Amino acid sequence: NDSLAEIDPEVAEQIDNELRRQQRGLEMIASENHTAVSVMEAQGSVLTNKYAEGYPGRRYYGGCEFVDVIEQLAIDRAKSLFGANFANVQPHSGAQANASVMHALIRPGDTILGLSLAHGGHLTHGMKINFSGRLYNVVPYNVSETDHRVDMAEVEALAKEHQPKLIVAGWSAYARQLDFAEFRRIADEVGAYLMVDMAHFAGLVAAGLHPSPVPHAHVVTTTTHKTLAGPRGGIILSNDADIAKKINSAVFPGQQGGPLEHVIAGKATAFKIAATPEFKERQERTLAGARILAERLLADDVAAAGISVVSGGTDVHLVLVDLRNAALNGQEAEDRLAQIDITVNRNAVPFDPRPPMVTSGLRIGTPALATRGFGEDAFREVADIIAQALIADGDSDLAPLRERVTALAQAHPLYPQVENLSAA
Ligand code: PLP
Repeated sequence: NDSLAEIDPEVAEQIDNELRRQQRGLEMIASENHTAVSVMEAQGSVLTNKYAEGYPGRRYYGGCEFVDVIEQLAIDRAKSLFGANFANVQPHSGAQANASVMHALIRPGDTILGLSLAHGGHLTHGMKINFSGRLYNVVPYNVSETDHRVDMAEVEALAKEHQPKLIVAGWSAYARQLDFAEFRRIADEVGAYLMVDMAHFAGLVAAGLHPSPVPHAHVVTTTTHKTLAGPRGGIILSNDADIAKKINSAVFPGQQGGPLEHVIAGKATAFKIAATPEFKERQERTLAGARILAERLLADDVAAAGISVVSGGTDVHLVLVDLRNAALNGQEAEDRLAQIDITVNRNAVPFDPRPPMVTSGLRIGTPALATRGFGEDAFREVADIIAQALIADGDSDLAPLRERVTALAQAHPLYPQVENLSAA
């Protein structure tokens, strides 16, 4: 027997523990999801053995006839899902997709404009010690203090003043939609490329429930594992043939060696799933869940505890909770929800007075629960549990809330069909 449990019981045991953790609790980290068993099957396949440097039909290794078919399926499905003329499905992650685009289109020392990390941007949009902040001259833009939305007048003024070569639109912690056409107008005005990083909302775009950046941006990047619900990884899309060529050589050999064909197979499967009516229906529940959560957290009993919602609501799959005037800070609120088996992450809110390891906010997302089958009633229940936990005083007994979480988890079993996903 050469099973993982036999060969390496220490690792097998922790995989089993992680499966049980996911099944027992409610995953509400906005960037996470529960991918399909079929996607995990593709990822756990013999494709992991294969070197395939190059692209389908143009490899530097022999024996690529089957991975060529798989990678071409992933490319064709990505193009069709997002309505793009070009897709590169090889980036190992969202960060590497973004690095590849910058490598392709701009040079070290050039100026980039991106949403500041403190206001919801991603590390790769210009954070100081990320490659993007080390290699490029970063000018951050912010959200407005009054409505917490990206201030397009500021974007335009900064673009005119600093003449960036690349403008990055996209976010990791922002609950509203961006105006891609306006970003493109500004980019054209100053002769910059526009890159939209749709990592968070790609699943909503695929389902037609969020405006697509593809018709507006020179290039679009995304992760494949957030709302899109595929394997961990990244892809790059474009409608411009010259940019496409540059992207291909920036990914390989510019940034990466051999592609992860087992992950690319998982991407292909995820794109197939994302084109189904069931996926669209799941994304509708994702959005409904976030709206229900925002409404509950805007109710009077929550407001009385000094807790509010950044930007006053949500148009996407997440809610940003503002704890600047609350008794709990972000760390304490994250810990409080962990005690009742709800996993979220603390997150800085715009104009946050607390340091990044503490923060005054929570980022709470609904994609994983929608995948688990949550409908509006279940989302109302989880929203109420979260509200009650956040307004509870420090000494209260959280056990009744935890029981309500357990009941929800049991009513929406995760991976019930796969007993042997558990390796131990
Ligand atoms: N871009 C955005 C907007 C993200 O939110 C993230 C991840 O959180 C990434 C890129 C990076 O993805 P990865 O973690 O796969 O490198």
